[in-house]
Amino acid sequence: MDKPRNKEEVVERYSRVFPRASRVTYAPIVGVRARNAMVWDIEGREYIDFLSDAAVQNVGHNNPKVVRAVKEQVEELMHFTFIYGFPVEPLLLAEKLAEIAPMEGVKVSLGMTGSDANDGAIKFARAYTRRRTILSYLRSYYGSTYGAMSVTGLDFEIRSKVGELSDVHYIPYPNCYRCPFGKEPKSCRMECVEYLKEKFEGEVYAGGVAALFAEPIQGDAGMVVPPEDYFKRVKRILDEHGILLVVDEVQSGMGRTGKWFAIEHFGVEPDIITLAKPLGGGLPISAIIGRAEVMDSLPPLGHAFTLSGNPVASRAALAVIEEIEEKELLRRAEKLGKYTKKRLEKMKEEHELIGDVRGLGLMLGIDLVKDRETKERAYEEARKVVWRAYELGLILAFLQGNVLRIQPPLTIEEELLDEGLDRLERAITDVEEGKVPDSVLAKVQGW
Ligand code: PMP
Repeated sequence: MDKPRNKEEVVERYSRVFPRASRVTYAPIVGVRARNAMVWDIEGREYIDFLSDAAVQNVGHNNPKVVRAVKEQVEELMHFTFIYGFPVEPLLLAEKLAEIAPMEGVKVSLGMTGSDANDGAIKFARAYTRRRTILSYLRSYYGSTYGAMSVTGLDFEIRSKVGELSDVHYIPYPNCYRCPFGKEPKSCRMECVEYLKEKFEGEVYAGGVAALFAEPIQGDAGMVVPPEDYFKRVKRILDEHGILLVVDEVQSGMGRTGKWFAIEHFGVEPDIITLAKPLGGGLPISAIIGRAEVMDSLPPLGHAFTLSGNPVASRAALAVIEEIEEKELLRRAEKLGKYTKKRLEKMKEEHELIGDVRGLGLMLGIDLVKDRETKERAYEEARKVVWRAYELGLILAFLQGNVLRIQPPLTIEEELLDEGLDRLERAITDVEEGKVPDSVLAKVQGW
């Protein structure tokens, strides 16, 4: 097998062997080495990673503690399936997750990806409540397996081709910048909560709903943060009807927003939490953390995989948690998040292209608009900014076509964060000044 020598060759060979469905084309980078917030590509160019590798590297790429734990574990025991045996590492991890979870008396199921965790959550919720219907949000993202895809409210095109789980309904997510009910903060009477209440009063959903699936902050929808008391009010309605609250912390968890779990900002206790992405520091591992009685509702092997609880991935996850504790990364995420948001808000004052800056901790978004009054999404400009950022050595992406995603590692050095923000502002300025040609648009695709 010939090792590829340059980016063009890699991209070309990718398109021959991987189907379009299993690769993303927006990142024009072939990363070969990474440390903390820095990535080096196959041609030796350096990049600052403002995506944390899609929110995977909360403790930084190749975190030394995680690398050490993985090396030790690889030498000891690579795998011993916990379907037959009792490896110790997943046990320690599950106990630790139960300790940091924001609810009491939980049990933990381990898997490999955010998608399988959400599939499991659907099964546990349906089995426990003996009801079928799942409520979810428009523009939500839960993953790529059948169940996770079916509760996802972001892209309905795939489902129209392949079919989906039945009994899933979508409601609008509270979005104070682009209110689905056409309100402005001044005229808001929490129509998003009223909407849900009316549905139940009208008995559209009553009796049959197992769970509401929610991202505490919608990630792929463009970093949308609900109003402070939204989840409290929703939880009250759910409790009245015996409906479970499942929160997907795949992107927002593990310290990203300044707390272990983003739902902690909203003062409610969920029934189930799903975790993945940053949990293993780059190794595939996911978790479903749920109230014990809910998690005991499925029969033996009702949700188990040969490779779940893999000792190496479990050791990596334990090291990630230790690193967050020892380096006080929750506090750091909050501090750097506030600092970054302030700088982004200052950029907003100077750049008409920026319509909104939002997020919590280091889970931030910049909503680019063609016109601040109409809030028309600036799709082409966003693609150009992302392209220009790559040219300047900054890894960036957009969500919903126009929201820049700002999610650096919680461990990023302060000077590097500043340098990344400088490059970001330069990219925005260059686009505003027409210095980025239309010809780049074809090269940048994605969501
Ligand atoms: N939930 C959320 C909120 C996510 O952001 C993602 C990934 N973007 C997933 C679930 C799916 O996780 P995975 O890709 O590991 O299956």
